[in-house]
Amino acid sequence: MGAEASLVEIFVSAQGEGPEVGRTTVFVRFGGCDLRCGWCDSPGTWRPGAVCRLEVEAGRGVFEERANPLPIDVVVEHIERLAPRRSTWISLTGGEPLLQPDAVEAVVDRLHAAGRRIYLETHGLHAAALARMVERIDLVSMDWKLASDVQWGPRVTPLPGEDFHDAHAAFLRVARRARAVYVKVVVTPSTRDAELDAMLDRIAAIDPSTPLVIQPVTPTGSVRERPDADRLLGWLARAESRLADVRLVPQTHPIYGAR
Ligand code: SF4
Repeated sequence: MGAEASLVEIFVSAQGEGPEVGRTTVFVRFGGCDLRCGWCDSPGTWRPGAVCRLEVEAGRGVFEERANPLPIDVVVEHIERLAPRRSTWISLTGGEPLLQPDAVEAVVDRLHAAGRRIYLETHGLHAAALARMVERIDLVSMDWKLASDVQWGPRVTPLPGEDFHDAHAAFLRVARRARAVYVKVVVTPSTRDAELDAMLDRIAAIDPSTPLVIQPVTPTGSVRERPDADRLLGWLARAESRLADVRLVPQTHPIYGAR
């Protein structure tokens, strides 16, 4: 039997963050995540469920339920149904998609063969899984998690060390083999200058032209407010002193009430 995917949902919306913000995107949301970010806006994705939901008509918000796991044929057929235009981005997101490497690789193979634009949104820690498929991905959006607001989830054997910097650096080295990659860091009132510096040092050592998006947190979960403007602009200047391509960009979809 071929690979199967445990999903949360497939739906169409506008990309709400990063360099492709505002573009129509089909989101394929995989179930399961091994991190716990204080601001997580999708805790319903932390554990794969018995069922997933598939949007029936692009942008209409009408869904049908299907049992998990789904055959890859069904996943790809549904993507094709929602995105007839070849240029539409297909985002493989979660949860953490790379926790299901067989399924993600099978979807990537099929989409790549069909000439689709593949956008992988990942927490940026599972380099070996990414290495299996990275050359077929058009854009890797990798988070750089800061330990001030992010922990490993229950039942995870943590990687060595108290933070995520070394694991992210290893991931970025692999992600550079994709057609494009950018790093996104979510900053909150708890963010420390020293942890941002540790991230900037590592990115600059790998490639100082790596695009970086600094994303002020959208208050959610245990995070109640954004950092103030002075801190945000200070972090922007700090990052620009070491990297060539830095932007400060909040999420846009909460502004108009989309997911
Ligand atoms: S990695 Fe993503 S899905 Fe997992 S806890 Fe963090 S924000 Fe939520």
